[in-house]
Amino acid sequence: MDQPTAPSPQVPATRGDAVKKILLAAPRGYCAGVDRAVDAVEQALAHYGAPIYVRKEIVHNKYVVEALSRRGAIFVSKTDEVPEGARVVFSAHGVSPAVHARAEARHLRTIDATCPLVTKVHKQAIRFAKDDYDIILVGHTGHEEVEGTQGEAPERIQVVNGPHEVDAVTVRDPEKVVWISQTTLSVDETMETVRLLRERFPHLADPPADDICYATQNRQGAVKTIAPRVDVMVVVGSGNSSNSVRLKEVALEAGAPVAYRVDYARELEESWFAEANTVGLTSGASVPEILVREVVERLGEMGFDEVEMVRTATEKISFSLPKNLRADLRAAAGGRMPGHRREPVAGHTC
Ligand code: SF4
Repeated sequence: MDQPTAPSPQVPATRGDAVKKILLAAPRGYCAGVDRAVDAVEQALAHYGAPIYVRKEIVHNKYVVEALSRRGAIFVSKTDEVPEGARVVFSAHGVSPAVHARAEARHLRTIDATCPLVTKVHKQAIRFAKDDYDIILVGHTGHEEVEGTQGEAPERIQVVNGPHEVDAVTVRDPEKVVWISQTTLSVDETMETVRLLRERFPHLADPPADDICYATQNRQGAVKTIAPRVDVMVVVGSGNSSNSVRLKEVALEAGAPVAYRVDYARELEESWFAEANTVGLTSGASVPEILVREVVERLGEMGFDEVEMVRTATEKISFSLPKNLRADLRAAAGGRMPGHRREPVAGHTC
């Protein structure tokens, strides 16, 4: 749980409707990349049996990691912790070529659950590096996705964490610079970073399309819509989940007087809502819907028993399982692709 940001003195303590209600953002929760990655671990456990090793957290959510651990997944932080020849799943955040090479050298049987939208950014990095660009990766140093993308061309890619780092950027040729980004950033802050980069490098090239993914943009869009109407915003998501942390920041920037991020309903404190009539609620892209339902129930116990869904986008994207896992499942089913047979870690979102 994060510390809350203090309410702004200019904003009244309560606003919105007189009845105590929850504004539930939609879309929220699981995105297609997370759904696929969690499904990959579940299907691997069901098909090959435990243990299945997973490099890093498959997605950044405590509940998901704990639930999969109970079913036989073993989470490791380095490929070298996986026993020689064992089966390992790479997380949705992606890995660098060096990690693939290390896994191959140790004869690991890999299932690559990298989100296809992250793979797309890797491919851009490879292409721009081949064309000899200096590549500015807008993202957070140390985040697994950034490490994986940077690993595609470490000699060409430099990471810029935000507007404050733009002045420190140095390039070989100011006419041959391109920017790409982590998929889970704040849209507005990224665009500000790019604006400042362009001031310094007027020939800055853009990637073919925005790298910030549809799920990040949609969840931030829903939060921006409801934030001005709420007294308190609650974001369900883990502290190491980039997109969840961004949702809290976006809520505050969009006018929520105060915002909290929690992993579980039990972290909610009644004092946070003592003066509130309207509570906004959303969840990060790695958060199962069951955790949101528990927050709704807990808020209901505090008198917020009316729920209004505020939908700002509809999502229909889904990704198929990693190729080699799909092939094994199909072979086991006599050439047919078996139906969706997972006992989900949690239900799908809205
Ligand atoms: Fe893929 Fe976006 Fe989900 Fe990340 S947040 S796993 S990039 S869909």
